[in-house]
Amino acid sequence: MPHVNVNLIYVGWENFTTSDKELVDAACWATRQTYWQVGFDIFGFDAYSISVADAAGYAYIDSAVEAAWLTSDYTIPGKSVDVFLVKDYAGSDAGISPCPGTCNKYETYPTRTGSVVELIGAWTKVAMPHEIGHYLGLDDIYNDPTNLMYYSTTSGSPSGIPVLTFAQGVKIAQHCFTSLP
Ligand SMILES: [Zn+2]
Repeated sequence: MPHVNVNLIYVGWENFTTSDKELVDAACWATRQTYWQVGFDIFGFDAYSISVADAAGYAYIDSAVEAAWLTSDYTIPGKSVDVFLVKDYAGSDAGISPCPGTCNKYETYPTRTGSVVELIGAWTKVAMPHEIGHYLGLDDIYNDPTNLMYYSTTSGSPSGIPVLTFAQGVKIAQHCFTSLP
């Protein structure tokens, strides 16, 4: 099955509680289930951590500029999608990603070389695959709240696995980080 690998980078490691780490595990599992719908796998989920001291201001992301610098400063070379996990991202955004993400993670600011995902309770299970979707080239969509790439999360709890269409599956298979079986 075509697939990509993911690096999980915990920003401000000491701030993550046991339940936060369980939530991340659940989000990884939900991410795989979401992409399986289109015969695509997301795995690896190699974990890295940046200590609170090293993360400095990055433990709390105030702006898109700061998110861009974070991905540039702490990129992990290779062909895996970097997913930076943060406990706090200012404002209503639950994350940010380039669309599509670069093939060359040695590029520096203002190129964003990874995705940033905020832990937002159960919605993290949608935010993580959504941001990875952007990296793989999927745009936000505005007319279908059941689709993974719907531009905005809603209140309440997420219901079930968000939808990916055949066309979206074709698109992500063409990203330079996608490996064929
Ligand atoms: Zn989006």
